[in-house]
Amino acid sequence: MLTPVRKIKQKLHDAAGFFANSSLNTMEQIPPAKFHSATEVQFLRGVGPRRAQSFAQLGIRTVQNLLEHYPRDYEFLPPLELIQSLQVDQTVTILGEIIDFRFNRRSRPPRMEITLRDDTGTCRLKWFHGGYLQDKFLPGDKIAAWGKVSRYKEILQLVNPKWMRLEQFEQLTGRRQQGYAVYPATAEISSGEISRILRNSLPDLLELVHDYFDESYRAQRQFPARRDAVQWIHVPPTKEHILMARRRLAYDELFFMELGIALRQEQIRQTQPAFPLPSSPRLDQRIKRLFPFLLTADQEKVIQEIAADMARTEPMNRLLQGDVGSGKTVVALYAALLAVGNHKQVAIMAPTEILAEQHFLHIEHFLRDSQVRRVLLTGGLTGSKRTALLDEIKNGSIDIVVGTQALLQQDVTFNNLALVVVDEQHKFGVRQRQQIRGKDIAPHYLVMTATPIPRTLAMTVFGDLEISTIEHLPPGRREILTRWVPPDKLPEACEFIRKQLQQKRQAYFVYPRVEQDEESGSLETDPAGQTGWAGQLKAAVSESEYLQTEIFSEFRVGLLHGQMDRDQKQQVMDDFRKGKIDILVATVVIEVGVDVPNATIMVIEHAERFGLAQLHQLRGRIGRGSQQSYCLLFGQAAGEIAQQRLQIMVETNDGFRIAEEDLRLRGPGEFFGTAQHGLPNLKIADIIRDLDLLRMARKDAFALARSDPFLRADASRPLKKILQEKFGDDLPLVDVG
Ligand code: ADP
Ligand code: MG
Repeated sequence: MLTPVRKIKQKLHDAAGFFANSSLNTMEQIPPAKFHSATEVQFLRGVGPRRAQSFAQLGIRTVQNLLEHYPRDYEFLPPLELIQSLQVDQTVTILGEIIDFRFNRRSRPPRMEITLRDDTGTCRLKWFHGGYLQDKFLPGDKIAAWGKVSRYKEILQLVNPKWMRLEQFEQLTGRRQQGYAVYPATAEISSGEISRILRNSLPDLLELVHDYFDESYRAQRQFPARRDAVQWIHVPPTKEHILMARRRLAYDELFFMELGIALRQEQIRQTQPAFPLPSSPRLDQRIKRLFPFLLTADQEKVIQEIAADMARTEPMNRLLQGDVGSGKTVVALYAALLAVGNHKQVAIMAPTEILAEQHFLHIEHFLRDSQVRRVLLTGGLTGSKRTALLDEIKNGSIDIVVGTQALLQQDVTFNNLALVVVDEQHKFGVRQRQQIRGKDIAPHYLVMTATPIPRTLAMTVFGDLEISTIEHLPPGRREILTRWVPPDKLPEACEFIRKQLQQKRQAYFVYPRVEQDEESGSLETDPAGQTGWAGQLKAAVSESEYLQTEIFSEFRVGLLHGQMDRDQKQQVMDDFRKGKIDILVATVVIEVGVDVPNATIMVIEHAERFGLAQLHQLRGRIGRGSQQSYCLLFGQAAGEIAQQRLQIMVETNDGFRIAEEDLRLRGPGEFFGTAQHGLPNLKIADIIRDLDLLRMARKDAFALARSDPFLRADASRPLKKILQEKFGDDLPLVDVG
């Protein structure tokens, strides 16, 4: 639990004695510091307009930015020694004055030699090829040098030592034996300069750093004060201090991220109740009777979780994750029917029209004999028909509306929308959710995703969602056999496919692009970051012709890609479903939604160019019937990572393992693609490495949000201020009240 920060505040009041009796009880009463956090770096000592520009290139505009420009590394110097006590083979730092230097051009190799003196003696510093040092030194210069001590002709020396001017050394290390920070820098402004500027102003800058957690809160978690942490991260007394500082600062960053999520959730809960949609044994039976199979244990489990949420007046916010084919749609339909059973409306939304149609067909399959009134609302529907439909939705005579995400943004008004199901597959649209809100009654909200999200990421990206997981596929499924087919095995593979087709099975051939384009013949970078892939990118269009005329002329080859118009696509899909087409050549448009149990072959051309998650999605199109299915990955596995990725596909059908591997191989940013997915921009925390901190921060933040959802308590004020600075308009509700 977050305890109030009263103690801290008390301290501050003591410090700001004459304010102590003021009725305004806020942090702002601290006597104004020399700077405030939005002060531009230009006004720091040693920074003029030119440096300010260099800083801007690093994304540093304000002094706050500068404080958060965390070191990327640290340099710890060897211990200081007096020259008198140097020992051969010791690694040391010495400080002294240059009493003599010369560049010996003729020796081999040419070398720079310096005689350095401190109060106890002299020693030699030697740099081979040190010509570049010639105009750096003057006798009388004071420097620090560090390296390993050796002896040459009875004279102690450091060979090729590192060095810096004593002044700089003292600036960097604060004259003490400690590490100094190495900053991300540019050609225009070096790490050393950044360090110097920061150090010079640090005492003033630290004035800006306030704690928002009191001592007992910190003590419980073994955190240093925030001000100490900021100081140590820039000027660490010891290596241990760096760790302590990092931990505190990373926690703070994660805490605010989670607090933002938690507050939003809590505020919606408190200001926008949902219709409670309770279940009953009778309703449960009526729903289940519609399914021609028994629900699996996993489906039952997640349905219980969902039903429990839906029975409450707090809007459900739940992520339903399960591998392709795990039976999510059935679960979503159950939830929908629960709402319909409570005489409320449901919107089911998919990312594309094809998918929306798929869902509708799938649902139709179960609802054929039911009274439930359902419609598919697509962009193709226009004019008076559309108007009539919208009227019916508005007056509540339609129960379930299936469509794309445009559903909720356009002219569609519901009578009593109580549940929104969003099938995001693996395109997470964190933003969309907010658009649904904003009415007095919030609908319950269920997101389906087929990309199993590693828990760590789910917590951050979908931080306000509860998670339900279907782990096991419905019974009767057979593992899909996956093989990588190198170029020289192509003929064999084609014969294998022919045999399958002769047994009346169907096949998908998937290509990365629609048409051959100019760049396709050139050297490119493959997704794993290796260059050297120089093959021709086979395009779906030309390849479908080739397959039809040259390879599988006795079969019917169809073509499906995203640039075809809706009716064409629909026609091809229908033909394939009905078996009029044997081979469906497609781009990734079939990645989601297509459900043809008789299709048992999935050929993926240029498999090395697809991401793991995408390969897994594509593979999920087969293995939907009782026949053994095969996934054939064509392509050249250039490079180790490409090979590893294909190997994972061959080894496992387990979407979770694939997702974890994908995350490991690509890192979280790549995993999600773009920032649009809401991955926060973390400066010091790392959601994978700092998982424990993330858990702690999440627990703390949610506890606070529950007890003080609008941050109205005195103790919460400093937090609120930081939160507003951090999130700005992204957290609209923080101002409420
Ligand atoms: P997902 O949406 O997770 O990809 P679906 O809901 O489309 O999975 O289910 C995949 C296939 O499995 C569908 O044909 C569906 O009818 C079938 N299915 C779902 N649940 C079961 C079950 N409990 N037993 C047998 N088949 C099921
Ligand atoms: Mg599905």
